[in-house]
Parts: sequence; C-alpha cells; structure tokens
Amino acid sequence: MIDISKERLAMSVPVEGAGGRTGSWRVFRPVVDREKCNGCGLCAMYCPDGAIDAGLEVDLEYCKGCGICANECPKKAITMVREER
Ligand code: SF4
Ligand code: SF4
Repeated sequence: MIDISKERLAMSVPVEGAGGRTGSWRVFRPVVDREKCNGCGLCAMYCPDGAIDAGLEVDLEYCKGCGICANECPKKAITMVREER
C-alpha cells in the first residue's frame, strides 16, 4: 500500500453539490499503474473533484474523466482509458 500523508491531499472531498455526481458523463477513466507510481500524491492534489483518496483509489461516482491527474503525474503512471458502456 502506498502511504500518502493527508497533509498533501486535496482539502476538498466529493459531496453532493450543485453538480451532483460528476461521474455519470465520464468518457475516460484514470487507471493508475502502481509499478510506476512513486506515491507523491500530486494526482490527488490536482483532482478538481477530490476523487482520489489516500490509497490512490478513484471514486468513479465523482471522477469526471478530465485527465488532469494523468497530465500532472510526474511518473506518467496514470492512463486515461475509454469507458465501455
Ligand atoms: S480524471 Fe479528473 S476527476 Fe477523475 S480522478 Fe483524474 S483529475 Fe480527478
Ligand atoms: S501523481 Fe502519479 S506518481 Fe504521484 S501519486 Fe499520483 S499516480 Fe502516483
């Protein structure tokens, strides 16, 4: 398990708000390659929905597939994979 200190995580967390669950219209989902990941936590800090937790699990109820986490990952450990529906 990768240990990311909470001090480095986004201050916001997913809640029911005006936008509701943002994951319903997601086209791509982030997939973390834990072999490449160094546990820096940048993905969680940059996620605008606070959808990545301390264990790097993505809450797909709120992940909207924007790809910011993948773009910011210094290890290129996140791949955006098209949803199959
Ligand atoms: S794709 Fe966007 S919303 Fe989903 S976890 Fe990454 S940064 Fe957050
Ligand atoms: S930004 Fe990349 S390397 Fe850093 S914790 Fe997230 S997936 Fe791992």
